[in-house]
Amino acid sequence: MRKKIVAGNWKMNLDYQSGVSLFSEIVNMVKDEVIGQQEVVVCSPAIHLYSLGQLAHTAVNVSVGAQNIHQAESGAYTGEISAAQVKSVGAEYVILGHSERRAYFGETDELLAEKVNIALKHGLKPIFCIGETKEERESGKFFDIIRTQLEKGLFHLSAEQFGQVVLAYEPVWAIGTGLTASPEQAQEVHAFIRETLANQYDQQLADDTTILYGGSCNPSNAPDLFSQKDIDGGLIGGASLKSRDFTDIVKVFNS
Ligand code: PEP
Repeated sequence: MRKKIVAGNWKMNLDYQSGVSLFSEIVNMVKDEVIGQQEVVVCSPAIHLYSLGQLAHTAVNVSVGAQNIHQAESGAYTGEISAAQVKSVGAEYVILGHSERRAYFGETDELLAEKVNIALKHGLKPIFCIGETKEERESGKFFDIIRTQLEKGLFHLSAEQFGQVVLAYEPVWAIGTGLTASPEQAQEVHAFIRETLANQYDQQLADDTTILYGGSCNPSNAPDLFSQKDIDGGLIGGASLKSRDFTDIVKVFNS
């Protein structure tokens, strides 16, 4: 059975103390909520990772993730951070392919394939984001866009490697805009993603892959989104910065 995951993406927010306080609150509030095949992941800025990783040890099914890594093993890349470095301070996951990194930092599908490889080499599970822009949705080409992102970023992986990957469908037009994909729109794409995985690999792999929805997800819309058959949780930006909202989203699976 595939895992249900609610993952927070704090982006470039929170100083050190505020991040540790927020994470401590979250750990306390989700204590009795994360049961069975369910996991909570918080993807923080690098400055928080070590302390959050330590706190996560005291919690069941709560993990910490990074928001980016460099594709090289190590070396003269001033200002960058490696997969081995974030793994060494307790990160279990790393967000790759987020639309903000694709748009503002020019990350291409080819570069992302390299980042996926180095993440897996060091035992980090990629939360790999895919999704179309507003123009791509309106042009009706969004299925092609999503298929290409999967093909170029991930389909070089073996089935065994793919087993470590979590997917996040994040329509770019819904990220940080307050516009959410309707449950039907999101389900349609999630089902398409699963079918594409079944065609490339096999039905078992497709059925076992966790596919998250991301884009202005909040406690009000999460219940309808998460009740869709192919939606296995969420990647949460803005609402992950408030412990009550984030915890209410985590609780959706138990209500
Ligand atoms: C995100 O950044 O991955 C995201 C989904 O942001 P928001 O929830 O704020 O739309």
